[in-house]
Amino acid sequence: MKRIYFDHNATTPTHPDVVKTMLPYYDSLYGNASSIHQFGREAKKAIEESRAGIASLINAKRPDEIVFTSGGSESDNFAIRGVAHALKNKGDHIILSSIEHLAVDNTCKFLEKNGYRVTRIPVDKYGIIDLNALHSAITDRTILITVIYANNETGTIEPLKDIVKIAGEKGVYVHTDAVQAVGKIKVDVEDLGVDLLSLSGHKFYGPKGVGALYIRKGTKITPVQTGGHHEKNRRAGTENVPGIVGIGKAAQLAMKNMDKEARRISGLRDRLQDGIEKSIKQTKLNGHPTDRLPNTCNISFEYLEGESIILNLDMEGVGVSTGSACTSGSLEASHVLLAMGVSAQTAQGSIRFSLGRINTKAEIDYVIEKLPSIIERLRKMSPLYEE
Ligand SMILES: *Cc1c(COP(=O)(O)O)cnc(C)c1O
Repeated sequence: MKRIYFDHNATTPTHPDVVKTMLPYYDSLYGNASSIHQFGREAKKAIEESRAGIASLINAKRPDEIVFTSGGSESDNFAIRGVAHALKNKGDHIILSSIEHLAVDNTCKFLEKNGYRVTRIPVDKYGIIDLNALHSAITDRTILITVIYANNETGTIEPLKDIVKIAGEKGVYVHTDAVQAVGKIKVDVEDLGVDLLSLSGHKFYGPKGVGALYIRKGTKITPVQTGGHHEKNRRAGTENVPGIVGIGKAAQLAMKNMDKEARRISGLRDRLQDGIEKSIKQTKLNGHPTDRLPNTCNISFEYLEGESIILNLDMEGVGVSTGSACTSGSLEASHVLLAMGVSAQTAQGSIRFSLGRINTKAEIDYVIEKLPSIIERLRKMSPLYEE
């Protein structure tokens, strides 16, 4: 059976050119970047080239503002815990949105249990943060505002520049989890003005287990992972050289194709969305209709459980998900959709389609053909269903 992958926000297939670029760093260029001999110097050089590539992808002024990590979760942890620790004499208050990824939300929860104060700012029905509430939440004890750039479940893009402006008036750092934005839309740390930004390789056709944290020069942050003097004393541990080379290559590819790919993929996404809306009754788009990632559409199918739709699509060879891969298995309604005012019942029946470079028009049409009968069959079995 043909298999169709519509779950690119969970992870992307590693680009073949990325794999090709990484392979020599396993079998011949295997030096430890901290070694001073030729083997080490080769590895070091590759890391610094990748660092410059990541800096260029997000328009960071200086490559040394990029610290390599093991991925988005670690970058979020590093940013939040690192600033919380470094500024603990200045304040103890952290602000986040109510639609953060668990890597941010649970990190803030942990700090909350350990003496920090945390405020979650509400969002509107599209998932956009309430800027007035944000403004009023800031106190002279606030040390960090952390807001996701583009939401992983709905694709909604947050008004980061406005957030930075509000934070700047009070001298508060801004961190953004840009894991879903990087590689899909233009991300420019100079234009945005953020102090810290998380990204992850496997969300833009790089390898899993490697990411980066952008730290604006001069930002006060304490290392979380301690040990050797790697990454200018900011993140200890022998560098994942193949992974770092891979994420660098993925950055290069993303920059080359971004606008064209975004147009192509949003065209496919809109075709899918229209097709579903036309052929299936009682659906609801979750997320902002336009201020949204080009590849994402999150749709609720009333009266149904998202899991049963996933399983039925899976039997047809189609991979989709409910909100977030990281929360699946919990069977709780998505905290993101609930925060947007979606009812628990409607939220339970939501499916996220997240498209990518490997998808084609024929695949969209296949899903539009299969889905109506799946939904109809499931609805007939649903005790909640009424036409
Ligand atoms: C995937 C994801 C993460 C976690 O990144 P990993 O590299 O998988 O640890 C964090 N935030 C968002 C928004 C994500 O989509």
